[in-house]
Amino acid sequence: MYAREPRKQAGAPEPRTAATTPAPAIRPGAPRDLLALQRSAGNAAVVQLMKATGAPATSVPVARVMDEEKFKEQTSGSGLRSRSAITAVDKALRAFHALRDPSPEEQIAALGGIVDACLVYLARKPNGPRSDGVERLRQEANVERGTLVLGPKAPILSEGEQRFRDVLAQIDAGLELVRQHEFAAEAFNLRNLPQDAQRESQGLDPAQFHQMMLHYIGELGGLLDDDDLPDETRTVIQEVVGVADRVTTMRYPAGTIGTSVNHPAPDDLADTEYTFNVDTQARGGTPFMLGHIAHELTHVAAHQAFNSSSVMALAPIDTPGDEIAQLARERAQTMDALLALLRADDTFHPDQRTLLEEKLNYGKEAGKLARYAATFRARGRISEDEETRLREWDAAAGVNSGTLVEYDTVLNQMLVYLHLWRIDQADAFYVRLRAAAAEATDRRLAALQAA
Ligand SMILES: [Zn+2]
Repeated sequence: MYAREPRKQAGAPEPRTAATTPAPAIRPGAPRDLLALQRSAGNAAVVQLMKATGAPATSVPVARVMDEEKFKEQTSGSGLRSRSAITAVDKALRAFHALRDPSPEEQIAALGGIVDACLVYLARKPNGPRSDGVERLRQEANVERGTLVLGPKAPILSEGEQRFRDVLAQIDAGLELVRQHEFAAEAFNLRNLPQDAQRESQGLDPAQFHQMMLHYIGELGGLLDDDDLPDETRTVIQEVVGVADRVTTMRYPAGTIGTSVNHPAPDDLADTEYTFNVDTQARGGTPFMLGHIAHELTHVAAHQAFNSSSVMALAPIDTPGDEIAQLARERAQTMDALLALLRADDTFHPDQRTLLEEKLNYGKEAGKLARYAATFRARGRISEDEETRLREWDAAAGVNSGTLVEYDTVLNQMLVYLHLWRIDQADAFYVRLRAAAAEATDRRLAALQAA
């Protein structure tokens, strides 16, 4: 995105009585939210907390330990295996891998069985030819059962990042309460937490800010551990997190919010680096941040796929005008269909609906490509030929021009929102969105393969 997106406060919500939606928030030290904890500390810690709170588990973490075949390779002694004490270890390992859909407790018990069997073997044969392999398995199993209890090590946050996250945690928690008590919306809006988030983000030095963004990208990638993640969203997250290292500067906006190609651009597309001016006025809290990241990284992924000038238009550079016209028309129709589904859908709370409507409208603004062509040419960011082509595309697309710059981006952004809001995957809007996003993803991947 290049243009500043509309920045509205959520409108006054209407009364409703829907069940609570978990609002992700990270608040290390005082983790109140399960999703957040899942991202910061891992599944195991979430399971521990859920046992304490009685909240339903969304997924059970799976401990990873070498399989029996690999263990046998690592412990292939000279004697007959079936007559060795090693078979007791084999048996414990087999029992662990035979668990189907185990609870953490079952895994911890089975891993303990492996550790005990290893220790018995090692006590008997401390220096045998198989002992090194047995010790490796013991360590692996013991670390896994420890991790199931501890969760992975949480990142150590800078003070500035902690403060920013504290604000986002307040937004997440506040929105969750507003969704239960609509009358609280006015009081919540008066707190103006997005402005606090912006102020705190300005207090971070550039290195800390960049580090914080890497943490958030890590959280986005962490959603891949969620068994409930829809396939379409999984593919998108894998794709966009995969290009994140091309973004060499992530900063509090020094100019327009959004992603841009660093100049001078190298000859080789794969060497292109990008700058991400981050919108830290995160009015939708953590889902807003992760959705924003997915949106901006989609620009990078699309640029890598389509190589369509520094404007990063969302179509292969050699697409003829009539195809551009059709593509833009189809995208606009999809956006309209999504908007109609959204308006007929009472699944969403007012703050959610507002964000989604903003994205859908942002994605189909008229005249956008021509505007970008002029601006980028004036800044010397595109050649005269590129400007000419972009103006031709804009003319071909007509009122649907915006979909040539913002389409894949807003679809992917909304996928992240809907997942973090735990919207029912059978919801009609969600179903249509996933189909549209999958189609856009296929187009990017096809372009990437053709390159
Ligand atoms: Zn964008």
